[in-house]
Amino acid sequence: LEEQLRQAQKMEAIGQLAGGVAHDFNNMLQAILGYTNIVLHMLEPDDKRYKKLMEVEKAGEKAAQLTRQLLAFSRRQVLKLGPLDLNQIIDDLLKMLRRLIGENIDLNLVTDKALWTVNADRGQMEQVLLNLCVNARDAMPDGGWLSIETANVSFDEDYCVRHDWAKPGDYVLLSITDSGCGMDEETKQRIFEPFFTTKDQGRGTGLGLATVYGIVRQHEGMVYVYSEVGKGTRFNVYLPAIEKPADEIPAEAPEPVSGGP
Ligand code: ADP
Repeated sequence: LEEQLRQAQKMEAIGQLAGGVAHDFNNMLQAILGYTNIVLHMLEPDDKRYKKLMEVEKAGEKAAQLTRQLLAFSRRQVLKLGPLDLNQIIDDLLKMLRRLIGENIDLNLVTDKALWTVNADRGQMEQVLLNLCVNARDAMPDGGWLSIETANVSFDEDYCVRHDWAKPGDYVLLSITDSGCGMDEETKQRIFEPFFTTKDQGRGTGLGLATVYGIVRQHEGMVYVYSEVGKGTRFNVYLPAIEKPADEIPAEAPEPVSGGP
């Protein structure tokens, strides 16, 4: 199970990294190819420089093809969105989570029974939950408690002005809190970086939280961390709530389209 988790984290992060790099790289390549083309057109084909520039263009085209392949790979991980009840996901994973955290860690569940629905990818939400719980466990080698909470939260403009990480709206909050070792400010600054880890070789990949961050951002949500050395850590994940479950939205005739071709 652990090995599987590590593998999934790795693939997820590599996919996102590759996608991000390929995207930026492609933009730069387009500039290189564009200017190469302009200069090519300024030269006569029998110019010595013409042939050399043709080589530049050829290499550029090859690189562009490679980045297109990379982009295709990273886009394979498209989100399969659907209305989800986070409480249900927690419930389904509970047995496995208990096994994962072991016997010297107490698990508390505080779930809001009237939790709003989120529009999310089930597999990815499971991954978020698992990654955060594995980290909590690793922060408590001598035992402690782990708390999983869900709640409905709304942020107004006023709140978001005072908390720059928040965006106004209705959210479902998933909180994972542990009574573990906590983190200092320096560590906290870096935890979402891919490959950042404080764990021993072989135990940590540094991809768990980068993956969590990527998934939450893809769902247009937010992650916020509170931590105190020696006391514990709280990860708050906010996912945009669906106003109403899909089956409650009355079917309406589509709006007439005005103008356009
Ligand atoms: P990994 O778990 O492989 O180290 P992560 O990206 O999941 O990679 O975590 C990065 C680092 O963040 C960890 O090595 C650890 O230092 C810190 N961290 C994450 N979660 C916690 C937590 N609940 N308590 C204390 N430190 C944490």
